[in-house]
Amino acid sequence: MKQLLVLSGKGGTGKTTVSSALIALSGAKAFADCDVDAPNLHLVTAQDIKPQTSDYYGFQKAYIDSEKCIKCGLCEETCRFNAIHDFAVNVSECEGCAVCSEICPVNAIKMLDFSSGEMMLYKDEVRAFSTAKLKTGSGASGKLVTAVKKQLKDNSHNSEFAIIDGSPGIGCPVIASISGVNMVMIVAEPTVSGIHDMKRIIETAKKFGTKCAVCINKYDVNESKSDEIEEYCNSIDIKVFGRIPYDKTVSHAVNNCRSIAEYPESQAAKAISEIWDKIKNILF
Ligand code: SF4
Ligand code: SF4
Repeated sequence: MKQLLVLSGKGGTGKTTVSSALIALSGAKAFADCDVDAPNLHLVTAQDIKPQTSDYYGFQKAYIDSEKCIKCGLCEETCRFNAIHDFAVNVSECEGCAVCSEICPVNAIKMLDFSSGEMMLYKDEVRAFSTAKLKTGSGASGKLVTAVKKQLKDNSHNSEFAIIDGSPGIGCPVIASISGVNMVMIVAEPTVSGIHDMKRIIETAKKFGTKCAVCINKYDVNESKSDEIEEYCNSIDIKVFGRIPYDKTVSHAVNNCRSIAEYPESQAAKAISEIWDKIKNILF
Protein backbone atom coordinates (compact mmCIF):
# COMPACT_ATOMS: atom_id res chain seq x y z
CA MET A 1 0.00 0.00 0.00
CA LYS A 2 1.48 3.36 -1.08
CA GLN A 3 1.36 5.96 1.66
CA LEU A 4 1.36 9.75 1.39
CA LEU A 5 2.10 11.62 4.61
CA VAL A 6 1.08 15.27 5.01
CA LEU A 7 3.23 17.22 7.46
CA SER A 8 3.87 20.73 8.63
CA GLY A 9 6.58 22.01 10.93
CA LYS A 10 3.98 23.51 13.24
CA GLY A 11 0.25 23.55 13.88
CA GLY A 12 -2.12 25.95 12.17
CA THR A 13 -0.59 25.88 8.68
CA GLY A 14 -3.59 24.21 7.02
CA LYS A 15 -2.23 20.67 7.08
CA THR A 16 -5.58 19.06 7.85
CA THR A 17 -7.31 21.22 5.21
CA VAL A 18 -4.83 19.92 2.63
CA SER A 19 -5.05 16.32 3.91
CA SER A 20 -8.86 16.21 3.79
CA ALA A 21 -8.87 17.74 0.31
CA LEU A 22 -6.32 15.19 -0.94
CA ILE A 23 -8.41 12.36 0.55
CA ALA A 24 -11.47 13.63 -1.33
CA LEU A 25 -9.62 14.31 -4.59
CA SER A 26 -7.77 10.98 -4.60
CA GLY A 27 -10.75 8.90 -3.49
CA ALA A 28 -8.43 7.23 -0.94
CA LYS A 29 -10.23 4.49 0.97
CA ALA A 30 -7.62 4.29 3.72
CA PHE A 31 -6.56 7.26 5.79
CA ALA A 32 -5.28 8.10 9.23
CA ASP A 33 -4.94 11.05 11.55
CA CYS A 34 -1.67 10.79 13.46
CA ASP A 35 -2.06 14.14 15.19
CA VAL A 36 -2.78 12.24 18.42
CA ASP A 37 -2.62 15.35 20.61
CA ALA A 38 -5.54 16.92 18.75
CA PRO A 39 -7.10 14.62 16.14
CA ASN A 40 -9.74 16.37 14.02
CA LEU A 41 -9.67 14.80 10.55
CA HIS A 42 -12.64 12.57 11.45
CA LEU A 43 -14.82 15.70 11.64
CA VAL A 44 -14.48 16.05 7.88
CA THR A 45 -13.82 12.56 6.56
CA ALA A 46 -15.72 10.08 8.73
CA GLN A 47 -18.44 11.92 10.60
CA ASP A 48 -21.04 9.47 9.25
CA ILE A 49 -19.33 6.39 10.77
CA LYS A 50 -19.51 5.38 14.43
CA PRO A 51 -15.98 4.64 15.68
CA GLN A 52 -14.88 1.45 17.39
CA THR A 53 -12.81 2.50 20.38
CA SER A 54 -10.30 0.73 22.60
CA ASP A 55 -7.86 1.73 25.30
CA TYR A 56 -4.22 2.04 24.31
CA TYR A 57 -1.67 0.77 26.82
CA GLY A 58 1.53 2.47 25.79
CA PHE A 59 3.62 1.87 28.88
CA GLN A 60 3.62 0.83 32.50
CA LYS A 61 3.42 2.69 35.81
CA ALA A 62 4.49 1.61 39.26
CA TYR A 63 1.98 0.51 41.87
CA ILE A 64 2.79 -0.07 45.58
CA ASP A 65 1.02 -2.92 47.36
CA SER A 66 0.44 -1.38 50.79
CA GLU A 67 -0.06 -4.80 52.39
CA LYS A 68 3.45 -5.88 51.42
CA CYS A 69 5.21 -2.53 51.93
CA ILE A 70 7.39 -2.34 55.07
CA LYS A 71 7.79 1.46 54.71
CA CYS A 72 11.58 1.42 54.37
CA GLY A 73 11.46 4.55 52.17
CA LEU A 74 14.01 3.21 49.67
CA CYS A 75 11.74 3.67 46.65
CA GLU A 76 11.00 7.32 47.45
CA GLU A 77 14.72 7.99 47.91
CA THR A 78 15.60 6.28 44.63
CA CYS A 79 12.93 7.59 42.26
CA ARG A 80 14.67 10.31 40.25
CA PHE A 81 11.32 11.60 38.99
CA ASN A 82 10.10 12.33 42.53
CA ALA A 83 6.98 10.30 41.81
CA ILE A 84 6.69 8.53 45.20
CA HIS A 85 5.44 10.22 48.36
CA ASP A 86 4.12 8.66 51.58
CA PHE A 87 4.49 5.15 50.14
CA ALA A 88 2.21 5.84 47.16
CA VAL A 89 2.99 6.50 43.49
CA ASN A 90 1.77 9.64 41.77
CA VAL A 91 0.97 8.17 38.33
CA SER A 92 1.14 11.49 36.56
CA GLU A 93 4.80 11.84 37.66
CA CYS A 94 5.82 8.19 37.18
CA GLU A 95 7.89 7.63 34.02
CA GLY A 96 7.66 3.85 34.21
CA CYS A 97 11.41 3.26 34.54
CA ALA A 98 10.82 0.35 37.01
CA VAL A 99 13.83 1.22 39.18
CA CYS A 100 11.63 1.26 42.30
CA SER A 101 10.31 -2.23 41.61
CA GLU A 102 13.88 -3.50 41.16
CA ILE A 103 15.15 -2.10 44.46
CA CYS A 104 12.15 -2.81 46.71
CA PRO A 105 13.41 -5.37 49.27
CA VAL A 106 10.02 -7.07 49.67
CA ASN A 107 8.71 -7.00 46.09
CA ALA A 108 5.92 -4.65 47.06
CA ILE A 109 6.05 -2.70 43.79
CA LYS A 110 4.48 -3.99 40.59
CA MET A 111 4.61 -2.42 37.15
CA LEU A 112 1.08 -2.29 35.70
CA ASP A 113 -0.10 -1.49 32.17
CA PHE A 114 -1.35 2.06 32.00
CA SER A 115 -3.92 3.38 29.56
CA SER A 116 -2.36 6.45 27.96
CA GLY A 117 -4.68 6.91 25.01
CA GLU A 118 -7.78 5.86 23.15
CA MET A 119 -7.60 4.16 19.75
CA MET A 120 -10.42 4.90 17.29
CA LEU A 121 -11.23 2.99 14.12
CA TYR A 122 -13.86 4.29 11.72
CA LYS A 123 -14.65 1.53 9.27
CA ASP A 124 -17.43 0.74 6.82
CA GLU A 125 -17.65 -1.41 3.68
CA VAL A 126 -15.37 0.86 1.70
CA ARG A 127 -13.35 3.04 4.06
CA ALA A 128 -10.95 2.54 6.93
CA PHE A 129 -9.89 5.51 9.01
CA SER A 130 -7.55 5.11 11.95
CA THR A 131 -6.79 7.61 14.66
CA ALA A 132 -6.19 7.94 18.40
CA LYS A 133 -6.27 10.48 21.17
CA LEU A 134 -3.54 10.79 23.74
CA LYS A 135 -4.85 11.18 27.29
CA THR A 136 -4.06 14.47 29.00
CA GLY A 137 -0.62 14.40 30.58
CA SER A 138 0.40 11.14 28.89
CA GLY A 139 3.59 10.68 26.92
CA ALA A 140 4.74 8.02 24.42
CA SER A 141 2.89 9.72 21.55
CA GLY A 142 5.37 8.23 19.05
CA LYS A 143 4.33 4.71 20.07
CA LEU A 144 0.70 5.71 19.76
CA VAL A 145 1.30 7.01 16.22
CA THR A 146 2.89 3.67 15.32
CA ALA A 147 -0.21 1.94 16.72
CA VAL A 148 -2.48 4.18 14.60
CA LYS A 149 -0.56 3.27 11.45
CA LYS A 150 -0.65 -0.43 12.31
CA GLN A 151 -4.40 -0.25 12.93
CA LEU A 152 -4.83 1.33 9.48
CA LYS A 153 -2.69 -1.33 7.82
CA ASP A 154 -4.53 -4.16 9.56
CA ASN A 155 -7.93 -2.84 8.46
CA SER A 156 -7.38 -1.71 4.89
CA HIS A 157 -6.42 -4.90 3.08
CA ASN A 158 -8.01 -3.91 -0.24
CA SER A 159 -6.58 -0.42 -0.41
CA GLU A 160 -3.58 0.37 -2.56
CA PHE A 161 -3.19 3.90 -1.34
CA ALA A 162 -3.40 5.67 2.02
CA ILE A 163 -3.18 9.29 3.13
CA ILE A 164 -1.89 10.08 6.59
CA ASP A 165 -2.33 13.40 8.34
CA GLY A 166 0.81 13.65 10.48
CA SER A 167 1.54 15.44 13.73
CA PRO A 168 2.81 19.00 13.69
CA GLY A 169 6.42 19.64 14.74
CA ILE A 170 9.46 17.41 14.29
CA GLY A 171 9.37 15.33 17.46
CA CYS A 172 8.88 11.66 18.17
CA PRO A 173 5.33 11.40 16.73
CA VAL A 174 6.49 12.92 13.43
CA ILE A 175 9.41 10.54 13.17
CA ALA A 176 7.01 7.65 13.87
CA SER A 177 4.68 9.05 11.15
CA ILE A 178 7.43 9.23 8.50
CA SER A 179 8.66 5.70 9.00
CA GLY A 180 7.64 3.52 6.03
CA VAL A 181 5.78 6.15 3.96
CA ASN A 182 6.46 6.65 0.24
CA MET A 183 6.20 10.41 0.11
CA VAL A 184 5.95 13.41 2.43
CA MET A 185 3.96 16.47 1.40
CA ILE A 186 4.99 19.45 3.52
CA VAL A 187 2.50 22.27 3.99
CA ALA A 188 4.48 25.47 4.59
CA GLU A 189 3.27 28.93 5.49
CA PRO A 190 4.98 32.13 4.29
CA THR A 191 6.13 33.48 7.66
CA VAL A 192 9.52 33.62 9.38
CA SER A 193 8.58 30.83 11.78
CA GLY A 194 6.86 28.89 8.97
CA ILE A 195 10.09 28.87 6.91
CA HIS A 196 12.14 27.86 9.94
CA ASP A 197 9.75 24.98 10.73
CA MET A 198 9.66 23.88 7.08
CA LYS A 199 13.46 23.62 6.98
CA ARG A 200 13.47 21.46 10.09
CA ILE A 201 10.85 19.09 8.75
CA ILE A 202 12.65 18.81 5.38
CA GLU A 203 15.85 17.89 7.24
CA THR A 204 13.96 15.27 9.23
CA ALA A 205 12.33 13.76 6.12
CA LYS A 206 15.67 13.74 4.26
CA LYS A 207 17.24 11.68 7.06
CA PHE A 208 14.72 8.96 6.24
CA GLY A 209 15.49 9.20 2.51
CA THR A 210 11.76 9.75 1.85
CA LYS A 211 10.60 11.62 -1.28
CA CYS A 212 9.39 15.01 -0.26
CA ALA A 213 7.67 18.04 -1.82
CA VAL A 214 6.32 21.33 -0.49
CA CYS A 215 3.17 23.36 -1.02
CA ILE A 216 2.72 26.90 0.29
CA ASN A 217 -0.56 27.66 2.01
CA LYS A 218 -1.96 31.21 2.00
CA TYR A 219 0.96 32.17 -0.23
CA ASP A 220 -0.50 35.59 -1.02
CA VAL A 221 -0.47 36.65 2.64
CA ASN A 222 3.26 37.30 2.17
CA GLU A 223 4.49 36.79 -1.40
CA SER A 224 8.11 37.70 -0.68
CA LYS A 225 8.27 34.96 1.99
CA SER A 226 6.61 32.57 -0.48
CA ASP A 227 9.37 33.42 -2.97
CA GLU A 228 11.90 32.76 -0.22
CA ILE A 229 10.39 29.30 0.36
CA GLU A 230 10.66 28.50 -3.36
CA GLU A 231 14.25 29.75 -3.54
CA TYR A 232 15.25 27.64 -0.56
CA CYS A 233 13.51 24.54 -1.92
CA ASN A 234 15.11 25.02 -5.36
CA SER A 235 18.51 25.33 -3.71
CA ILE A 236 18.18 21.90 -2.08
CA ASP A 237 16.35 20.25 -4.98
CA ILE A 238 12.97 19.95 -3.28
CA LYS A 239 9.99 20.56 -5.57
CA VAL A 240 7.33 23.13 -4.69
CA PHE A 241 4.14 21.57 -6.02
CA GLY A 242 1.93 24.60 -5.68
CA ARG A 243 0.81 27.78 -4.00
CA ILE A 244 -2.59 27.80 -2.31
CA PRO A 245 -4.15 31.27 -2.04
CA TYR A 246 -5.86 32.66 1.03
CA ASP A 247 -9.51 31.78 0.43
CA LYS A 248 -12.45 32.54 2.72
CA THR A 249 -14.18 29.42 1.38
CA VAL A 250 -11.72 27.37 3.47
CA SER A 251 -13.10 28.85 6.73
CA HIS A 252 -16.63 28.28 5.48
CA ALA A 253 -15.80 24.64 4.67
CA VAL A 254 -14.09 24.06 8.05
CA ASN A 255 -17.01 25.61 9.94
CA ASN A 256 -19.37 23.23 8.14
CA CYS A 257 -17.13 20.15 8.62
CA ARG A 258 -16.57 19.90 4.87
CA SER A 259 -13.48 19.38 2.80
CA ILE A 260 -12.50 22.34 0.64
CA ALA A 261 -12.54 19.85 -2.25
CA GLU A 262 -16.35 19.95 -1.96
CA TYR A 263 -16.15 23.52 -3.23
CA PRO A 264 -14.38 22.80 -6.55
CA GLU A 265 -14.87 26.32 -7.87
CA SER A 266 -12.91 27.83 -4.96
CA GLN A 267 -9.40 29.07 -5.66
CA ALA A 268 -7.98 26.93 -2.82
CA ALA A 269 -9.63 23.75 -4.15
CA LYS A 270 -8.29 24.42 -7.65
CA ALA A 271 -4.77 24.90 -6.30
CA ILE A 272 -4.90 21.69 -4.22
CA SER A 273 -6.28 19.80 -7.22
CA GLU A 274 -3.21 20.84 -9.24
CA ILE A 275 -0.99 19.76 -6.34
CA TRP A 276 -2.70 16.35 -6.31
CA ASP A 277 -2.00 15.94 -10.04
CA LYS A 278 1.70 16.45 -9.35
CA ILE A 279 1.69 14.05 -6.38
CA LYS A 280 0.08 11.38 -8.59
CA ASN A 281 2.90 11.72 -11.11
CA ILE A 282 5.45 11.03 -8.39
CA LEU A 283 3.63 8.28 -6.51
CA PHE A 284 2.05 6.18 -9.27
S1 SF4 B 1 10.89 0.16 48.72
FE1 SF4 B 1 9.21 -1.28 48.90
S2 SF4 B 1 9.03 -1.64 51.05
FE2 SF4 B 1 10.30 0.16 50.84
S3 SF4 B 1 8.84 1.85 51.02
FE3 SF4 B 1 9.03 1.37 48.87
S4 SF4 B 1 7.41 -0.07 48.46
FE4 SF4 B 1 7.63 0.01 50.65
S1 SF4 C 1 8.76 3.43 37.89
FE1 SF4 C 1 10.46 4.87 37.95
S2 SF4 C 1 9.44 6.84 37.78
FE2 SF4 C 1 7.87 5.41 38.36
S3 SF4 C 1 7.78 5.53 40.55
FE3 SF4 C 1 9.18 3.87 40.05
S4 SF4 C 1 11.22 4.78 40.06
FE4 SF4 C 1 9.71 6.45 39.97
